[in-house]
Amino acid sequence: MRPLSPEFRAYAWAPSTEELARRAGLDPSQIVRFDGNVPPLPLPSSRPATVAHALAHVNEYPHGGYPELLAAIADYAGVGPENVVLGAGGDDLILLVTRAYAGEGDTVAIADDPTYPLYRVAAGLAGATVGDDEPVLTFCCRPNNPTGSLDPLPSARPLAVDEAYLEFAEDDGAVGLIEDGVIVIRTFSKAFALAGARVGYALAGADVAAELNTRQAPLAVATPSAALALAALASPPDVRPAIEERERVAEELRALGFAPLPSRTNFLYVPVDDPEDVASRLLARGCVPRVYEDAIRITIRDREDDDLLLAALAGAEALAGRSVRHLRATAETALRVRLRLDGDGRVRVATGAGLYDHFLEQLAFHAGLDLVLEGTGDAETGPHHTAEDSAIALGEALDRALGDRRGIARYGDAVVPMDDALARAAVDLGGRRASEIELEHDPGLAQHVLQSLADSGRLCLHVESAGRDAHHVAEAAFKATGRALRAALRQDGSLVPSTKGVL
Ligand code: PMP
Repeated sequence: MRPLSPEFRAYAWAPSTEELARRAGLDPSQIVRFDGNVPPLPLPSSRPATVAHALAHVNEYPHGGYPELLAAIADYAGVGPENVVLGAGGDDLILLVTRAYAGEGDTVAIADDPTYPLYRVAAGLAGATVGDDEPVLTFCCRPNNPTGSLDPLPSARPLAVDEAYLEFAEDDGAVGLIEDGVIVIRTFSKAFALAGARVGYALAGADVAAELNTRQAPLAVATPSAALALAALASPPDVRPAIEERERVAEELRALGFAPLPSRTNFLYVPVDDPEDVASRLLARGCVPRVYEDAIRITIRDREDDDLLLAALAGAEALAGRSVRHLRATAETALRVRLRLDGDGRVRVATGAGLYDHFLEQLAFHAGLDLVLEGTGDAETGPHHTAEDSAIALGEALDRALGDRRGIARYGDAVVPMDDALARAAVDLGGRRASEIELEHDPGLAQHVLQSLADSGRLCLHVESAGRDAHHVAEAAFKATGRALRAALRQDGSLVPSTKGVL
């Protein structure tokens, strides 16, 4: 092999979630990664159905490449398809552009420090050195990782501008300069939430793009990944909630005495005195930041997750109580549950199952849970799978959060009127599954959803609800179930919940 420079350092990945969990003595599901700069959930377009066609042809090569994807990217970026070069993530394009311009004895300039480490890795792999002396290529990360800043573009040419985080900057970026020696590198890994799919692209003048394509691996993108990217472009994400959340977290950090740098990305660079120490304290609480010499970098996730990190940074007591994070993914649905049994009724259910999201919210609220249940299902086939799997996911989370079920009140019951409807519910958390659900009218799936919850949560659940209006009958049933659960979930250590002494 051609030797690499003795100074060469390969790209170093952060440890796996399993490894971090082992170090922290936690279950992997309790680890929350604030170090990947990716959104907390896939986009709704990233569902199994999106790749079904690609999988049906996965034995074949995509002869002719991906003209539809090239056209969609060109459209999104405001260029022609002849200006687009596809690759397996932005990283692939960074490596491609570097090896296209730089070789043994050449110099590559890198605009910022600190910045994304792969430019240095790519230069080293090409046999080039990093410096400012007559560079054959200059790299600029804009907005910059890890600082988050959106600095003026360098005037150097040829200039590779890495716009991995551009969507969060609400800026046009450098695409207008592709006829002026600028190559733009972008990715589907960040705003489009497709990091695992490995799709990125470069935008360049037609001649440069053709030269890059000549040097690119044949068919560097997989067909399922191309399908995911195409679907994502058909309904691009709304990044405003992430931007608002970034500003909220920055404000909270300032209130805690930190001084995060202003950010135009989905992360914050937070200078601290002893980053390793801060990171190990955060890891003890399941939170994983990225560590730098004089700072930590934290990815913006969503309010619930970010509040965990803020509380850990504040050194606040960990929120007491029984809580779990749970993921349920099937061919039809992908659902994520964050559940705290000893909550305050802070509830958000958003799966697209309409009425049943609303019913589960009512149940969780009246049970006194903190619950975030979100994700997507195959809504085009109706709410059936999504509503059912939501109930199963909640039941599974409930079962996990209850652990060995010691010290709970075990039994609970409630009577709840709602206009014309009256519901009675009784629950036994002894661990034996049974459900007797009698609804005088059912808007569709209410009985099935309650049964699914009882089954997956190992509940014995009896519900009767009667009235004239199907919606009221069902809603009263869910509320009564919630109220009954609240009583049964109560922790009363003095009670042995079974004459057998164990459940
Ligand atoms: N550029 C920057 C600045 C990044 O932070 C990353 C990902 N960490 C990438 C490029 C590459 O991402 P991907 O290969 O997933 O597209």
